[in-house]
Amino acid sequence: MSGGLDSVLAVRLLLDQHIEVFGINFIGGYCPRPLAGQSRAQKAAGQLGIELVELPIDQQFIDQIRAPRYGRGRNMNPCIDCHILMVKRAWNWGREHGARFVATGEVLGQRPMSQTKQGLMLVAKRSGTQGRLLRPLSARLLEPTVPEKQGLVDRGWLLDIQGRNRKRQFELARKYGITEYGTPAGGCLLTDKNFAQRLKEAFDHREQDVRTVELLRLGRHFRLESGARVIVGRNKEENDELLRLAPEDALVIDGSRLPGPVCLLIPGRDADRELAASLCVRYSDRKHEEKAKVEVGGEEIEAAPLSSEESARLMVH
Ligand code: SF4
Repeated sequence: MSGGLDSVLAVRLLLDQHIEVFGINFIGGYCPRPLAGQSRAQKAAGQLGIELVELPIDQQFIDQIRAPRYGRGRNMNPCIDCHILMVKRAWNWGREHGARFVATGEVLGQRPMSQTKQGLMLVAKRSGTQGRLLRPLSARLLEPTVPEKQGLVDRGWLLDIQGRNRKRQFELARKYGITEYGTPAGGCLLTDKNFAQRLKEAFDHREQDVRTVELLRLGRHFRLESGARVIVGRNKEENDELLRLAPEDALVIDGSRLPGPVCLLIPGRDADRELAASLCVRYSDRKHEEKAKVEVGGEEIEAAPLSSEESARLMVH
């Protein structure tokens, strides 16, 4: 449950049949939590009055971006592979907690790749749900699933929505008084062109762990000659998040006394300390001074601001 309108309506249709529903939301990696406040899924679950379970985007999700079995969408998004894994994980969690089936907000024909009839059937087959994957919004256009055949869900109450036009979903939203919902796939960074470029560059440098993917959405990124990465926070929220997510091998460069950004040098090799410190000064309030002091790994060092040409050269776009 992303908190997008389709997932909210799918839950609503089941709640109307007095079925107990748990929302499963995937968090981390390319589905980040907002820097402040509640996620879309948390808000939606609150409105629906259901419990929300957050499962992590883990390494297996990241690995399949590099070599998706069923191809990618317009950017780096391997939607069919991703759906298969999400449904698989949701069903594993559900089975451990006594669930009888999994439901998604997928709509037949809404997206070119993952929501064609073939795409929906593939996800149903490869997710290991064995006929227990229900799409309440399009169910009447698809083969009856096990929960329908077993009478756990009344097929007559389910819908036959298809296509890209979302008129019927908006009508239902009005009917149910649903006001809080995001755009479809709005939370997925893989569909964002700039993020996808950064991710490709990271993969080219064999950086493919979940933490790196999480860091790619924050700050300005620089690639040093040595192959190390420097991330420069752009505001307080990003600085705090960089400190929270700093990997073990990172060196923290704290320019807060300049005032200036928090930067991460990854990996934190001594040979790159000065250059990273210069980048920190370059993006601080003292960028026009000859030298300024910054804290590198808890130790104070003096560094000259890096020239704008040099920082532009090292920047990852
Ligand atoms: S849009 Fe992103 S999160 Fe959604 S299925 Fe595609 S890759 Fe996965």
